[in-house]
Amino acid sequence: MKQKINFNAGPAQLPPEVIHDAAIAVRNFKKTGISILETSHRSQVFQDTVEESRALVRKLCGINDDYEILWLPGGGRMQFCMVPMNFLSAGKTAGFIDSGYWASEAAATARFYGDVKILASSKDSNYDRLPIWPEVPKELAYLHITTNNTIYGTQCHNIPDVKVPLIADMSSDILSMKRDYTKYSMFYAAVQKNLGAAGLTLAVIRKDMLSKISNSLPGMLNYKDQATENPLVNTPNVFGIYVSLLMLRWIDEKGIDAVEKENRSKAELLYAVLDNSKVFKPIVTVKADRSLMNVCFTANTPEIEKSFLDACEANDIIGVKGHRLASGFRVSLYNAISLEDVQTLIAVMNKFEKQITDPVAPPKKWGR
Ligand SMILES: *Cc1c(COP(=O)(O)O)cnc(C)c1O
Repeated sequence: MKQKINFNAGPAQLPPEVIHDAAIAVRNFKKTGISILETSHRSQVFQDTVEESRALVRKLCGINDDYEILWLPGGGRMQFCMVPMNFLSAGKTAGFIDSGYWASEAAATARFYGDVKILASSKDSNYDRLPIWPEVPKELAYLHITTNNTIYGTQCHNIPDVKVPLIADMSSDILSMKRDYTKYSMFYAAVQKNLGAAGLTLAVIRKDMLSKISNSLPGMLNYKDQATENPLVNTPNVFGIYVSLLMLRWIDEKGIDAVEKENRSKAELLYAVLDNSKVFKPIVTVKADRSLMNVCFTANTPEIEKSFLDACEANDIIGVKGHRLASGFRVSLYNAISLEDVQTLIAVMNKFEKQITDPVAPPKKWGR
């Protein structure tokens, strides 16, 4: 069966090789004679899986043993809770850069635990650009940023050094490009966009942060316990962790430089079409702030938008409808989307635009 091209923002398309290997593991995990779905989290094969995944995260992010690598449950949103639970308390203040929906949700959740200061926001322009980078007060417990704004299609391409612990939500652009991950005291990512299957989060925390954590947090919610309990605090998402390992291997095999290069080419191609179109319009006009991962655009009228979605569907392309909070379309170009996938979409866009802008001459009548 021909697979559809899935431009959804997450859960998102996975590489065929990863799907293939995951399917094998569901039948017979690493030739153990049992399914990965039946495999104990305390078994040696699974311990090896976790160790290999941690080593690959270190390698691909360019970080060393100063960082703990954790696979945690609850998706990205759980980190909106755990970060302030662990690093914020009454009387302390955390700073946030409000660059979109997820950033503002992270800030709203932190308010349960301490003071929150929004240092900059682009809400007034409906997050169509990044806010100007603010002065960062040096007494903050931490500064939280969102490196890629999944819903509005903006991305931080330059992140200044700061003198307080920097914590980043990288759910929609982790390992999509080379980046200096050592800038961060912590970064986390729900994996269903660039790095695996839904329900799991990668959290990477510099060890010096762990000493700041109070002992009055239960183990499941405490990064210190999550990092030191051997092997794991509870039965984790064994299958999900394995799928993420397959993604890490896939990225490693390709090489992070090649992954970045392809991600840049994909986005450039698509933005070039949008910038030259008479039918489609890019939402993010500040070019320096454009996301390589989520490309958002509109069409001239709601009728045209509807018929473009139909055209995509007819060509086995799904997931291009924009988020309910934004209008129009959103095409997500995560790691597993190939250049050919983007070229296929562009061919459909071009054909669609041609049909709209030069309507075919009325068919000739039969006879003379
Ligand atoms: C998708 C996303 C989340 C939410 O992840 P869940 O796994 O649904 O909780 C958080 N932050 C960003 C930037 C996202 O793109």
